[in-house]
Amino acid sequence: MKYRVTCIPGDGIGPEIMAATKEAVGATGVDIEWVDVEAGADVIEKYGTPLPQGTLDAVRETKVAIKGPLTTPVGSGFRSVNVALRKELDLYANLRPAISIPGVKSRYEDIDLVVVRENTEDLYAGIEHSVGKDAAESIKIITRYASERIARFAFEYARREGRRKVTAVHKANIMKYTDGLFLEVARGVAAEYGDIEFEDRIVDNMAMQLVQKPELYDVILCPNLYGDILSDLCAGLVGGLGMAPGANLGDELALFEPVHGSAPKYAGLNKVNPGALILSAVLMLRHLGEREAADQLFHAVRDVVGAGQDVTYDLGGTAGTREMGQAIARRIGELQS
Ligand code: NAD
Repeated sequence: MKYRVTCIPGDGIGPEIMAATKEAVGATGVDIEWVDVEAGADVIEKYGTPLPQGTLDAVRETKVAIKGPLTTPVGSGFRSVNVALRKELDLYANLRPAISIPGVKSRYEDIDLVVVRENTEDLYAGIEHSVGKDAAESIKIITRYASERIARFAFEYARREGRRKVTAVHKANIMKYTDGLFLEVARGVAAEYGDIEFEDRIVDNMAMQLVQKPELYDVILCPNLYGDILSDLCAGLVGGLGMAPGANLGDELALFEPVHGSAPKYAGLNKVNPGALILSAVLMLRHLGEREAADQLFHAVRDVVGAGQDVTYDLGGTAGTREMGQAIARRIGELQS
C-alpha cells in the first residue's frame, strides 16, 4: 500500500534531520510518497505568511504529516507556527513518550512514561495583551469540551497500549475554576474506565515526584502548559531532547514532530542527532498501521545508539546527522535479512 505523507522539513536543523529520517524510513520498505511543503520564517517573503494555505491544505488532504522544528521569534514578530498548525488542524492531543534507550547517557534506566498534553487551550493559547505600559495580562481558558476529549484520549490510549495508570496533573488548589474544571472532568472520564487506575497530582509535586520516583508513573494527563514543561522534564529523564519524539493527533489528522526546536546554532553543520525525528517517524508508522516497520525502525535506532559507534556528539559519538541516519538504515537492512 502506498501512503502519502506531508513533509514540512522546518528550519534550522530541520532539513538535515528530515533527510536522515526519510532515509531511515525508506529502508523499512514502507511505500511513502512524501508531499514536501514549506512553513516558517524563511517563507514569509514568498507567501506573505509563515504558514501558507497550501501547507494546511496538504496536511488536510494527506491526513498524516511529519515536521521538523520551526523557529519562533521571542518577544515580538509572528506567533508560533507550531501552535498555529495544532490549532488550525485541531490536533488536540500531544503525545510525548519518554522511553529509556540503552546507550543514551542518563541518570535513570527503565523509564517508560507518556505525557498526554492538551494542545489547544490553557495559557499556552497565548491570549494576552498589554494593560497600559507597565502591565500585561494573559487569559487562561479551560473548557469542559477540550478537557473531556483529552481525558478520553488518555484513557483510550492507555487501554489500547496496555498501560495501567493515568495521572492527571493540575494546580486546582489555587486555580479552582480552570484547573478545578480540568480535574473534575478527568475524574468523571476516569469513572468510565474501571480497568485503568486513576490518580491526580498537583503540578509542583508532580515535577518533584518525576525526578525522585519516575517508576510510579505511566500515562501523565496534562493541560497544555504543564504538559509542555513536564514533557521536557521527562525528556531529561531519558537523556535529553535529542531522543524525544512527539505526535500531535486529532480525530482525523496527525502530525509527528520531535519535542526539540530548531537549534539554530547547529544549522547546516551535519552535527545534531536525528533520533528524535526518527522516533517520531516510528510513532507515524504505528499510526499508519505499519507496526512491524515501526518496531524495526525502533530496534534499529536502539541498536545503533546502543553500539555507540555511529552516533552524534550528544550521544558521545563523532558521527554526523547523515551518517547516523545511514547507520540506522543499514541496521534495518540487517534486521530484515
Ligand atoms: P532547541 O531544542 O532548538 O535547542 C536547545 C538545545 O538542545 C540546542 O542548543 C542543542 O544543544 C540541543 N538540541 C536540540 N535538538 C538537538 C538535536 N536534535 N541533537 C542534539 N542536540 C539538540 O531549543 P531552543 O534553543 O529553546 O529553541 C530554538 C528555536 O526552536 C526557537 O525559535 C523555538 O521557538 C523553536 N522551537 C520549535 C519547536 C517546534 O518546532 N515544535 C519546539 C521547541 C522550540
